[in-house]
Amino acid sequence: MPVPLSLDQDQSKLSQPFEFDLVARQGRARAGRFYTPHGELHTPIFAPVGTQASVKAITPAQLQELGASLILANTYHLYLRPGDELVASMGGLHHFMHWSNPILTDSGGFQVFSLSDNRKIDADGVTFKSHIDGSSRRLTPETAIAIQENLGADIIMAFDECAPPTDREYNQRAMQRTHAWAERCLQAKRRPDQALFGIVQGGIFLDLRSASAEFISSLGFPGHAIGGLSVGETKTEMHAVLETVDAVLPANKPRYLMGVGTPEDLVNGVMRGIDIFDCVLPTRLARHNAAMRRSGRLNLVNAVYAQDPSPIDANCTCYTCQNFSRAYLRHLIVAKEMLSATLLSIHNIHTLLQLTREIRQAILDGSFDQFAQDFFAQQAASTIDHFEGEP
Ligand SMILES: [Zn+2]
Repeated sequence: MPVPLSLDQDQSKLSQPFEFDLVARQGRARAGRFYTPHGELHTPIFAPVGTQASVKAITPAQLQELGASLILANTYHLYLRPGDELVASMGGLHHFMHWSNPILTDSGGFQVFSLSDNRKIDADGVTFKSHIDGSSRRLTPETAIAIQENLGADIIMAFDECAPPTDREYNQRAMQRTHAWAERCLQAKRRPDQALFGIVQGGIFLDLRSASAEFISSLGFPGHAIGGLSVGETKTEMHAVLETVDAVLPANKPRYLMGVGTPEDLVNGVMRGIDIFDCVLPTRLARHNAAMRRSGRLNLVNAVYAQDPSPIDANCTCYTCQNFSRAYLRHLIVAKEMLSATLLSIHNIHTLLQLTREIRQAILDGSFDQFAQDFFAQQAASTIDHFEGEP
């Protein structure tokens, strides 16, 4: 029997999983909504990284309080330990780590190329030694998808090959392989409740990036990622790649810039059409006693803070800045108390989440150009250490 259409149903019709609504644009900057089975993502968005299904030193309740809506977990690490089948038997990643908002998993490709020993790449996949126990493992496009289906994230990634960014010949080969693997990933995918993103490769070579964006976007993925950046190229090279890719990728699908996340990278990325970012930087810096400011980092172990009653940032609304002095944070660091990592992670993650919220609001208000201008002026005037070369 047909049910009359209520407002709620009409709303749910509007929020089909993996639909992307572009809400506002200013220049290349975009504000959007991406619908997933675990909720709506408001872009531009920053995703804190939970490599081992844990955002280091932070509980899911604290992340929720910070307003995090998307987190990333690493396929390579979870495949090796505890194993994707165990995660599946525990009800999938959301249940296993008690996170009810959206999750993104990478394909494992980047870690295979950066962490594992003795890797052997062939047309079919990669054989490598686990960095944990030395056991021989193999990832192919099909297994990378099967593992990510066991993990059960909302957004999953195609298996790709990351080449050193300035080696043209290697990038050409790796790009061809990434393209063939992208097609195989689409073929292998079974779960309808996950969005598989294709990955654009091509190093710093704009003709390769353009060809890659064209090929990958022809395959019909619901979203696109830009891989192989922030791996040693200059900022100017990265920006040229983003501008090239932005001109080719379809506007009506989200773009995700993988592994990039200093405050200036977020502003520069949004200025060049990026919607989604992730980076280990806020939690990694926290474990190295550093607090993130928009214009750089404060190294709180520094003796200059020993008697400093002020918070990290007097304008910050995070729990750490509302309640704790630099002197107390430095004391925790010197006394090797674990709480320092938690309090600094809370502040650092808040800094990036708050920045993306303000960026989004500025795009909605039509004031993003001014926002970016003020941001860079503030940064140029700042005397604290910049993030250049981080992490
Ligand atoms: Zn703070």
